[in-house]
Amino acid sequence: MGRIPQTFIDELLARTDIVELVGSRVPLKKAGHEFKACCPFHSEKTPSFWVSPAKQFYHCFGCGAHGTALGFVMNFDRLSFPEAVEELATRLGIDVPRELDSPGRSPADEDLYELMGRVARFYAEALSRDARARAYVTQRGLGREILDRFMIGYAPDSWNEILRRFGPDESRRQRLLAAGLIVERERTASQGGDRCYDRFRDRIMFPIRDARGRVIAFGGRVIDQGEPKYLNSPETPLFHKGRELYALHEARQLRAPLRRLLVVEGYMDAVRLHQAGIAYAVATLGTATTAEHLKRIFRVVSEVVFAFDGDRAGRAAAWRALQNALPEAREGREIRFLFLPEGEDPDSLVGTEGREAFEQRLDAALPLSEYLVHELSGQAELSHADGRARFAELARPLAARVPDGLYRELLLERLAREIRLPPERLLALWTSAAAGTPGGKAGVGPSPVRPARARESAGRGSLVRQAVRTLLHFPGTAQAVSSEKCAALAQVRDPGVEILRELLEALQKRPAQSTAQILERWREHPAHERLARLAGEENLVTDPRAAAAEFSNAVEKLLDSVERQRIEELLAQSETGLGPEEELELRRLMSRRGGARPAAPGH
Ligand SMILES: [Zn+2]
Repeated sequence: MGRIPQTFIDELLARTDIVELVGSRVPLKKAGHEFKACCPFHSEKTPSFWVSPAKQFYHCFGCGAHGTALGFVMNFDRLSFPEAVEELATRLGIDVPRELDSPGRSPADEDLYELMGRVARFYAEALSRDARARAYVTQRGLGREILDRFMIGYAPDSWNEILRRFGPDESRRQRLLAAGLIVERERTASQGGDRCYDRFRDRIMFPIRDARGRVIAFGGRVIDQGEPKYLNSPETPLFHKGRELYALHEARQLRAPLRRLLVVEGYMDAVRLHQAGIAYAVATLGTATTAEHLKRIFRVVSEVVFAFDGDRAGRAAAWRALQNALPEAREGREIRFLFLPEGEDPDSLVGTEGREAFEQRLDAALPLSEYLVHELSGQAELSHADGRARFAELARPLAARVPDGLYRELLLERLAREIRLPPERLLALWTSAAAGTPGGKAGVGPSPVRPARARESAGRGSLVRQAVRTLLHFPGTAQAVSSEKCAALAQVRDPGVEILRELLEALQKRPAQSTAQILERWREHPAHERLARLAGEENLVTDPRAAAAEFSNAVEKLLDSVERQRIEELLAQSETGLGPEEELELRRLMSRRGGARPAAPGH
């Protein structure tokens, strides 16, 4: 994948408001020029988490967590850097550009998107031309509007329709292969005829779209009988099935704010639910619900209901979904499980009961904790001590996957109540069990809590430190110092001065609008962490002009120390005699300091 240009990161940060972003996930209170909240990264009762609109930066005085809007999304949503960039870009509705010189996702992928879009349009037209396919979708209750909204189509009953239309030459065939639209025959089987054939034949086609609405894959369903009933695109550069949710794009297109998502198993179910007015239904694509799905879901809503068939396979799938959901469970989020009556699909239920009754079922679906307790008590007899001990043992690895926090405490209480133990006793039991087993702690899931770090002194610190901090808080102060003075800093020997000079030079070349922009430009730099910590420190000066004055004053003092040192050197040397050049240098230095060169000794 091509590199994301730094200028784009700058733009992203300039257009994102960190207060709004953090505020969408954590309730913020205004406090002076800043905003505060109870820290989402460690548990606390009085707020020590601050968000600064001026710096576009957050900082926790309790646990030391800090960062920019990008850093926040990375930590809170647990995303990688490129994913966090995608997330902010999607919020703003803009595309993430990639630098072209690197291989991977750039021109070639753009081509694939374009190809998928054209093929989807071809399938949609084919549906309107084919009477049998049209009769089928009508019989399934799909109206014109929903067919259009989902771009539903039909793959003609042909081995080479797509091949012929979209693959007239070798390079275009290669793209069809890369997009998963055609399949290559086994070499031995190819006898003269075509080497490739269409993957989807005589199927109703459901285009799968990404967050931006681009077609990235297809799901195809047979019309009558036939195997397999559902056929999906293979994994391609555009499509990773464990990550995508069918109909999520369409659900997000609606005007009404999305409050919850209902996850069902098939795309036909999802589409029919939309048709029935449950426009927040999405489907996984032939996989169990993965951790990636859940992350994606909780980026959009705070409530999710999983619907499963009441049969054995449905229960197994539900249990897998529960396990993947545990790391995402936390206060403020609702995760529920709906088990359908035997023989019913979600959409057939809506059909027979009506939308309101169906939504009541959703409201009454089992919360994650209740489902967990229910399943475990099915595996352990709670009427006697042995059974209760087994329950505790079964629950331990599952509870360990839940991140620290209020939700986990409540879950612990709920589990303890079930086996009639005080929660502390249950926890003590688990802790000793974990310590007793080799690697027993390995099951403890990732915790969003950072190691506590003592609050850094917000004192003035050294001159260099103070200067760097001022630059971070007020990037504009870089212009207060001439480039000659900046270059002269190379002579200064104080620790950390190289960073100061590098930062100053960079800002003079390319000014930044906020602390956040600087930090993101320096993300890869070895000094990044130090800068981020300085950015979190309080600055005593709060007025930009005063800051600029303070900054140039600090630079003067640093340069002055160089001069003073040089003068001392020269003076010491003059005891034994100076050369004409050194004599000149000393005079110049002395006169600049407003003093006359004292008469050389011996004159
Ligand atoms: Zn904190």
